[in-house]
Amino acid sequence: MGVPENIVVGSHVWVGDPEVIWIGGQVLSINGEDAEIQISDERKVVSHLSKLYPKDIDARADGVDDMTKLAYLHEPAVLHNLETRFAMNEIYTYTGNILIAINPFQSLSHLYDTNVMQRYKGSMIGDLSPHVFAIAEGAYREMMNEVKSNSILVSGESGAGKTETTKMLMQYLAYLGGHTASEGRTVEKQVLESNPVLEAFGNAKTVRNDNSSRFGKFVEIQFDKFGRISGAAIRTYLLEKSRVCQISDPERNYHCFYLICASPPEEKEKYKLGDPKSFHYLNQSNCYELVGVNAAQDYLSTKRAMDIVGISQDEQDAIFRVVAAILHLGNINFSKSEETDFAVLEEEESKFHLQTTAELLMCDAHALEDALCKRMMVTPEEIIKRSLDPLGATVSRDGLAKTIYSRLFDWLVQKINISIGQDPSSKCLIGVLDIYGFESFQTNSFEQFCINFTNEKLQQHFNQHVFKMEQEEYTKEGIDWSYLEFVDNQDVLDLIEKKPGGIIALLDEACMFPKSTHETFSQKLYQTFKDHKRFIKPKLTRSDFTVSHYAGDVQYQSEHFLDKNKDYVVPEHQEMLSSSKCSFVSGLFPPLSEESAKSSKFSSIGSRFKLQLQQLMDTLNLTEPHYIRCVKPNTQLKPFIFEHMNVIQQLRSGGVLEAVRIKCAGFPTHWTFHDFITRLWILAPEILRGNFDEKDSCKKILEKIGLTGYQIGETKIFLRAGQMSELDARRALLL
Ligand code: ADP
Ligand code: MG
Repeated sequence: MGVPENIVVGSHVWVGDPEVIWIGGQVLSINGEDAEIQISDERKVVSHLSKLYPKDIDARADGVDDMTKLAYLHEPAVLHNLETRFAMNEIYTYTGNILIAINPFQSLSHLYDTNVMQRYKGSMIGDLSPHVFAIAEGAYREMMNEVKSNSILVSGESGAGKTETTKMLMQYLAYLGGHTASEGRTVEKQVLESNPVLEAFGNAKTVRNDNSSRFGKFVEIQFDKFGRISGAAIRTYLLEKSRVCQISDPERNYHCFYLICASPPEEKEKYKLGDPKSFHYLNQSNCYELVGVNAAQDYLSTKRAMDIVGISQDEQDAIFRVVAAILHLGNINFSKSEETDFAVLEEEESKFHLQTTAELLMCDAHALEDALCKRMMVTPEEIIKRSLDPLGATVSRDGLAKTIYSRLFDWLVQKINISIGQDPSSKCLIGVLDIYGFESFQTNSFEQFCINFTNEKLQQHFNQHVFKMEQEEYTKEGIDWSYLEFVDNQDVLDLIEKKPGGIIALLDEACMFPKSTHETFSQKLYQTFKDHKRFIKPKLTRSDFTVSHYAGDVQYQSEHFLDKNKDYVVPEHQEMLSSSKCSFVSGLFPPLSEESAKSSKFSSIGSRFKLQLQQLMDTLNLTEPHYIRCVKPNTQLKPFIFEHMNVIQQLRSGGVLEAVRIKCAGFPTHWTFHDFITRLWILAPEILRGNFDEKDSCKKILEKIGLTGYQIGETKIFLRAGQMSELDARRALLL
């Protein structure tokens, strides 16, 4: 953070370390700009003075529950404090009004029972130990007192605990705004039971999380004027479609596929299902079961949750028929016909699966086979049917599976929304956002691009908010806030979403031009952004591009950007499904209007996502936000392990350190007069004698020492970065 600090021989400091990132030590000697530091009995290191941070030797052994109470606010202190608390199972810590939640990877049920909810009810932030309930309580109180909508934004990387946190928030809000138990199928119950339904269809095991949500979610809980839950709306973002037909070991497909394979015998027979190992969409990975999960039981409990959210028996039957149909569809294989290169069904088994898929979807088997193997070609003279080769037919099959599944998911969300119902008279709502955090992998494609775009948007919102809060505190204390620096990432957002000329706009352009390839698209990017400081053309590649995100550089591979941006349902698939005899299936594929059927214009996923995101931001901007940053302490998903490098990375990309930086640019140390005197009276004991005005005493102590640049507010002293360590250094000489 590049803060000037006062470091002298004997100072306790934090020094960078390749392994644990920051390690404590004491300065032995200073030689020009370099300091020699004693780390332990055996170990000494030399470091440049500017790379050292002062260590607070008076820090409480059990840490502080709010980072802003740290004497020195900087990265090593923040990390040390979190580690100290985590070791004592204190997983929650504030940074001002941001809650940091570290995933304990063990059940801490005593933290969440009804007694605990009771205690938090009516409490103020800071009264009790940091907790998700305190954040929900704060949002609820603010909504009731000020008749203003609030939102709680939960972020973090995959497996950090966002979804669990969101569920606890919803649980607590249902507790506060719930109806009496006798009222039966209540709104809050439906809201809570929407979670297991969406998880069955939208969550899957990944390497990062056994129950990873493969979609983003914003739940809007509406309240009536008595503060009771009166309606809700769920919006989802970008379901990962590719997982339906492509998985790699040890990941899994969506939970619902395994649940249906574990359904009671009569249902399994109805759906013609057997061992999950027999299905291509599942057996690409060797993982079929989850530790601690009983699929047969979960199948039944998912159906019970569906009952509660208002999905009828007939609908449930149709939903699971579609799920089973997708499994059978995946087992239809193609080979070359003997005379030509065209695709034909491979063997008897494929014929069986074709027949079964058609029966389950209630479509004509011939129509299905045609839709998979043939394409219409419209030429000015005539319409001809062209046969696909086996590879083309397989791509067609997988495309069909993805389309059906994503329509099914959208149907579920819509159904839940209709069934819970909206309260048009509601004036206030609390929105809860559970959305994927920043991602940077070995290879990064269109999905990562959209996810990181989302995070840039949220980061801007966060920076604006943190800045505003600091500003308000300064104004309240009557001090000058011109020192505050506003960190803006508008330049990255422009690079991505500007119209015309941003990356998404150029991608759409490329998608509309038939001759484009990912290489021509990348060339266009290189040309357009060659001087953009957030855009880099990496060396040694012809089509990768790098974006300098707020959380770090990410190199994207553009290979599948064009394909993945096109939301396109093959007309043959559309036609076949919209003529299904099952009204549920045909309802998923309403006939296209004359106009859109003819138009060759594609629908852009990127642009639609951008629009959805803008709507989300518009909603959020009308609310008072609260932030929860979830942190994953280790990649082994095990309790008690705290990996420094991982945690630091997440604090950086979660904007926690950015918030710290905004604070540091102004007056990072805020001390009440009383606390200030308690710590520093020794610097001027004579001033305190007989003087009972704390503000006056503080002023005199500071004058005597000759410090400049600090400010005295109504109730607190505001110190510039480094001033606290200067005062401590002087105090140390007197102790
Ligand atoms: P994310 O949604 O961020 O990907 P999840 O909320 O699904 O992560 O959490 C991953 C796993 O971590 C959960 O399945 C659960 O086992 C564990 N977990 C997360 N938060 C908690 C918590 N507060 N207490 C206990 N276990 C938790
Ligand atoms: Mg999740």
